[in-house]
Amino acid sequence: MRSITHFIHGQSAPLAGARLSDVLNPATGAVQAQVELATAAHLQKAVDSALAAQPEWAATNPQRRARVMFRFKELIEQNMDELAVLLSSEHGKVVADARGDIQRGLEVVEFACGIPHLLKGEYTQGAGPGIDVYSMRQPLGIAAGITPFNFPAMIPLWMSAMAIACGNAFILKPSERDPSVPVRLAELAMEAGMPAGILNVVHGDKEMVDAILDHPAIKAVSFVGSSDIANYVYARGAQNGKRVQAMGGAKNHGIILPDADMDQAVADIVGAAYGSAGERCMALPVVVPVGEATADAFRAKLLDAIETLRPGIPTDPDAQYGPLVTGVHKARVESYIQMAADEGAEIVVDGRGFSLQGYEEGFYLAPTLIDRVTPQMKSYQDEIFGPVLQILRAQSFEEALSYPSKHQYGNGVAIFTRNGDYARKFAADVEVGMVGINVPIPVPVAYHSFGGWKRSGFGDLDQYGMDGVRFYTRTKKITQRWPDGGAVIDQSFVIPTMR
Ligand code: NAD
Repeated sequence: MRSITHFIHGQSAPLAGARLSDVLNPATGAVQAQVELATAAHLQKAVDSALAAQPEWAATNPQRRARVMFRFKELIEQNMDELAVLLSSEHGKVVADARGDIQRGLEVVEFACGIPHLLKGEYTQGAGPGIDVYSMRQPLGIAAGITPFNFPAMIPLWMSAMAIACGNAFILKPSERDPSVPVRLAELAMEAGMPAGILNVVHGDKEMVDAILDHPAIKAVSFVGSSDIANYVYARGAQNGKRVQAMGGAKNHGIILPDADMDQAVADIVGAAYGSAGERCMALPVVVPVGEATADAFRAKLLDAIETLRPGIPTDPDAQYGPLVTGVHKARVESYIQMAADEGAEIVVDGRGFSLQGYEEGFYLAPTLIDRVTPQMKSYQDEIFGPVLQILRAQSFEEALSYPSKHQYGNGVAIFTRNGDYARKFAADVEVGMVGINVPIPVPVAYHSFGGWKRSGFGDLDQYGMDGVRFYTRTKKITQRWPDGGAVIDQSFVIPTMR
């Protein structure tokens, strides 16, 4: 049995006596490897290594740190195919989509190549008589990232590229369900010239997460995962005086107005709902058509599109999406389909019971379509995270706007319309962090920032972009006056003001 181990101080770091967790092959259902789950004592090794390496890295001028990021980018590009296949083998997404996962992380590495410019402070000459004020951005020391299973390349890169370019050491605790790609990325980072200890990877579960949250040397924690755990991480990390950003779950709505280009909307929604088996935090699992005619037209066209969809093994170029990540998760998604039926929704297409010939033990689920859900249904309120699309019918623009706004999650939302006035109003008024206008998956590009609202995001700074720079640095503000050799300025017992 292949063993997946930690990566500490530039090398593989097996740990005697560690607990083990199975890593599955979702395509076949077989156990393909075991990952070592570390303890607090093991975390200390990673912290010691990071503490030893970080001061010199922080003192390396930003242009030289950027050169390492440039090289890292090249190496990821050169190894893209190998990384994508490895990613698919543990996650289950199709290889083309795995490349997208890596590419969206790579784009943050590209952004991080501009770190010399991004780290520049502010300067005011002559803020008072002979007084200048300036600011400098300094790294925090050690930051940590705790990442979910569904983007095993993109999210570790969102965090680590920004943290490291800013001059920090970074400890990554990836999902124990697909841990190999993060380790491979750390190896490539070393090959790119990153000093040992600047990017360490420790595997684990709740025990390791708690150890990270309680460790006094770790100054910032970035988390992405489900909302209850995000809330917990945010509270416990903050309690321990850390800076924390914690992104949670989602239930993104796609609003279709009667004037939308329906063919285009269906083409967009089918990919956003079923791509990656619906296991994306920016998937579109709820469609809100406005008016019965819009709903009926959407449903009819979507049914045609679903006819041509089929899950398959990740390396099958004709498969639109692959298996779910684990059998446990598949069972959970199936239980939500049953829940929707029990709650009185209409199961239009039921993906349960699908079996892929030759891969009968894999975790496949065919596309599922559920109509006539209502806001009172638990199957609507909860995140399902599978290839399941729900239709919630609305009778007016205002009603449609209210659904994503009132939902507990506020990650992403999309509106499909040709009406600029409605689109503008929707973007301004909807209570959701990321909005697409005729764009189904509005993940902002790397030089903007990513983050949802409400239970989709705890903390005030988003991932990557300038928020990433802010999250991984602290600003020092300097007010300086150099004596000019003239008269002594009188004592004053009044706070200095600009009067
Ligand atoms: P998860 O919450 O189960 O796991 C995330 C991380 O938390 C993993 O590293 C895991 O080891 C750790 N963890 C698990 N149980 C824990 C516990 N009890 N205490 C402390 N840590 C624990 O999430 P997942 O299933 O890996 O990923 C899917 C979820 O992530 C979905 O809810 C999805 O919407 C969300 N997600 C959100 C975003 C976003 O940016 N908002 C992006 C991707 C995924």
